[in-house]
Amino acid sequence: MPELPEVETYIRALAPLLQGKRIAGAHVYWPRTIAAPDAGAFVNLIQGRGFVHFDRRGKYMLFGLDSGETLVVHLRMTGELRVQPADMRPDKHTHLLLDLESGERLHYRDQRKFGRVWLVDDVTQVLARLGPEPLSGDFAPSGLAQALSGRTAAIKALLLDQSIVAGVGNIYADEALFHARIDPRRTGGDLTADEVVCLWQGVREVLTKGIELRGSSLGSGPQNYTPPDGLPGEAQEFHQVFRRTGLPCPVCGVPVQRVVLAQRSTHFCPSCQR
Ligand SMILES: [Zn+2]
Repeated sequence: MPELPEVETYIRALAPLLQGKRIAGAHVYWPRTIAAPDAGAFVNLIQGRGFVHFDRRGKYMLFGLDSGETLVVHLRMTGELRVQPADMRPDKHTHLLLDLESGERLHYRDQRKFGRVWLVDDVTQVLARLGPEPLSGDFAPSGLAQALSGRTAAIKALLLDQSIVAGVGNIYADEALFHARIDPRRTGGDLTADEVVCLWQGVREVLTKGIELRGSSLGSGPQNYTPPDGLPGEAQEFHQVFRRTGLPCPVCGVPVQRVVLAQRSTHFCPSCQR
């Protein structure tokens, strides 16, 4: 599932392919893909709009249109967007197709169908509950400490809570906790002030590196994230613990362990992470 670095890579790759292009028409093949407005209204409203601005918030892609509206896309597990030549036919996993006046078409495909698309005047309709953007000044140790204060859930689970910090998913939560040398099973409220600072740094460090390396291309088939330009990410080459169960910790050599927390596989070094 794409996390912040993968979504950032995605929007950066799509921006030059879509900048200034106008939408001639839309086809919705699976209406539930469109979260708002309803699919019929979506098709009417988006026709004739041009792409002018590209941004990201957490794991959401934001496509600013010349009407002032925003097309918001969340890829969830297996969603993907590709700009394709006009003769590329939609297949059974194509749920939304945007015809561009340039003759190309933007395909939204999604094997698992969890991804969602919104067309909104005001993005807060979709993003209101998101916590701070981790690479911005809005994400600070003091705010993180406040958000974790008194919380009895495992710190790993709290890092996945998008209202505490936006954009972190399973990969980068495990890597950030290793960076901070914090056991993922600790309860959030038990972290010391110094540990919260280390975790804040860890989150920023692993996400920044993830973006530099164009995200993590992991898994196989539709679960394998590949940016729209087809060049795989390389962040997986630098994972310290994620999906490295049984392999030696790069710091101390003790085998990396796997446990399940909040129904998610969690990888950590039982010696380094306290
Ligand atoms: Zn270790």
